[in-house]
Amino acid sequence: MKRRTFALSLLAGAALPRPARATGGLDVGETVTPRTVRVLLASGDGFAEPQRLDSWRFGWNGRTYRGVFGTIVLEDGRRGLLNTVPLDAYLYGVLGAEISAGWPAAAQAAQAVAARTFALSKLRPQKSFDVVAGDADQHYGGIEAESVEGRDAVDSTSGRILTYDGVQAHVAFGACCGGRTADAGDVWGTPYPYLISKPDPNCAEAPDFAWRGEVPFDSIASRLDLEKIGQLRSVGLRPADGSGRPRALIFTGESGSTDVPTRAFRSAAGGAVVRSTFLREATLVAHGESVSVAGTGRGHGVGLCQWGAHAMAANGARPDEILAFYFPGTGFGQV
Ligand SMILES: [Zn+2]
Repeated sequence: MKRRTFALSLLAGAALPRPARATGGLDVGETVTPRTVRVLLASGDGFAEPQRLDSWRFGWNGRTYRGVFGTIVLEDGRRGLLNTVPLDAYLYGVLGAEISAGWPAAAQAAQAVAARTFALSKLRPQKSFDVVAGDADQHYGGIEAESVEGRDAVDSTSGRILTYDGVQAHVAFGACCGGRTADAGDVWGTPYPYLISKPDPNCAEAPDFAWRGEVPFDSIASRLDLEKIGQLRSVGLRPADGSGRPRALIFTGESGSTDVPTRAFRSAAGGAVVRSTFLREATLVAHGESVSVAGTGRGHGVGLCQWGAHAMAANGARPDEILAFYFPGTGFGQV
């Protein structure tokens, strides 16, 4: 495993106040030149106007955020609300939003390194923002989402990122893999040697490990172009990819059959009902009016499994052991 310290060429900018320390205090006055992240908090025409609280905080939508705000015009012409904030101050708000304050310190630290690596991989100076606050990138809840434990994890790992072959790694994480992680190549079309599918015995006790959901056929038929098959007769699962996740569902109606990719089915039904693509069973219920699906895990399943990391940490694993399990072959770098 190669370990190399390297410097990233990051956003240059005016000297800004140092972000708060783990105690939550605001050390306004001491200046550094930090790495900054531009977080898109909202887009469209309907978002509330932020209120500047002091030189280093603002209020918006019932929350308080570190850093400064501004409005931008997005590539599609809509307005965007941007929060420009030093990297680790951003990560304070990510840690508390992604995992609970009560989780073991090693799980918090592993999440902090993964979140930092993810954020740095998203910096795109040529674009008008770097990351979206929410499911699309990382959850981020401002100061109200922060915890002492999360800030400690960010501070204790400051500058540390995951690398592969001496280069910053691409990382992903999700709530629960369902017992086997997914391969990035199967999910997003781009494989990485450390984002492979592997059994995960650690998350079996996760609250979302096994689930069942019911999807009314009418709620998805139009979006998935299923009206052409007529009255639904049966539904089933196509063969699985290498991680055990079925690639598609087959819907058979009185006028024919059609395949629906599992990700498209989940997207149409909603992630709250179909919690993952790791489907184990699909059957017709309610006299053919609904599809009942059973599955395991929550989320895409690639990379770090947060509930698995929680269990590993509770059993005494160190942060580097957790990261080595979910990103095999990676090492650490310092930015
Ligand atoms: Zn897992």
